[in-house]
Amino acid sequence: MDIVQELLPQQARKTPPSTLTGVTFGTVFSDHMLAIRWSSDRGGWHSAKIQPFQHLQMSPSTLVLHYGQSAFEGMKAYRGADQKIRLFRPRQNFERLQRTAQRICLPELDVETGLQALKLLLRTDQNWVPNEPGTSLYIRPTLIATEEALGLKVSKEYLFFIILCPVGPYYPEGFNPVKIIVEEKYARAAPGGVGEAKTAGNYAASNLAEKEAQAKGYTQVLWLDAVERQYVEEVGSMNIFFVMENEIVTPQLNGTILPGITRRSVLELGRHWGLPMVERRIRIEEVLNGVRQGTIKEIFGSGTAAVISPVGELSWKGESFLVGKGKTGPVAQRFFQNLTGIQYGEMEDPYEWMELIDE
Ligand SMILES: *Cc1c(COP(=O)(O)O)cnc(C)c1O
Repeated sequence: MDIVQELLPQQARKTPPSTLTGVTFGTVFSDHMLAIRWSSDRGGWHSAKIQPFQHLQMSPSTLVLHYGQSAFEGMKAYRGADQKIRLFRPRQNFERLQRTAQRICLPELDVETGLQALKLLLRTDQNWVPNEPGTSLYIRPTLIATEEALGLKVSKEYLFFIILCPVGPYYPEGFNPVKIIVEEKYARAAPGGVGEAKTAGNYAASNLAEKEAQAKGYTQVLWLDAVERQYVEEVGSMNIFFVMENEIVTPQLNGTILPGITRRSVLELGRHWGLPMVERRIRIEEVLNGVRQGTIKEIFGSGTAAVISPVGELSWKGESFLVGKGKTGPVAQRFFQNLTGIQYGEMEDPYEWMELIDE
């Protein structure tokens, strides 16, 4: 695909923040963005451009604003001590974007086309990949329906764009365990629905539960399955792991759980180390009993933003339980150190997950 480059002259470019301390996640953006259009009239993808970061112009009747036909991804570029810029398993994100697209009836973007366009954007704005320890450049690919029509239908026109924002360390004060509450009233996703797709509506659907949890002093909710309200699914917008006596368990993918790339990487790295990584159904009763009896030593979430997020306290029906004495455990610590070590190019990358932006 030909990508037209409409770049800002050097003197019109911004200076990236000198430090990311105090910068709120997702509020500062780099100089440029990628935009590619799709129209059925033009036979598919066209007009690929790297252009200055800018507002989108759209009619208030644009389909995505009303019926939520959209997909997004979240990934990061990391600057290593060697100054090289690396992406973590980027093909996995573009493949997942294709799966989300299928589910929401969006056009699919070829994985290699998307990745090459992203790398070109990153090379253009490489001075935006921050240098401070623990920082990275967050990448947000987004695909939206842009046809102007209020009638409920599948759009004939789309916009795919990628924007970039430098982000600070997720744990500026250290690797702190979070408090979570088991959600009993609301459900995140139902069988046959869109829980495994990274589509906007899932997050709108989770807002109220998270707001109520926060009012009670919890950071996030632990989602249970929508049918029986018995099986554990995810924590907030992360996947979840339980370190038990003889196994490290995560809920098996069942259509309502988002298939996280960090989740998959924890499973693969754990197996590489010879740890007993297991994907199966887990009842909330099993979790509560395990935490009470101390046979569940650690609980942690996994996702691109935090990488690993230890859980220090779990609340259910007004009772709360400390997990691992409320401290970060050695398993969470080991995964965090190794995954971030691989991402910054400082540790052995046994599966060649990292990819340089100029490859
Ligand atoms: C994005 C996301 C995750 C984590 O996926 P990663 O690829 O590891 O970042 C988990 N759960 C939900 C609901 C998500 O949206």
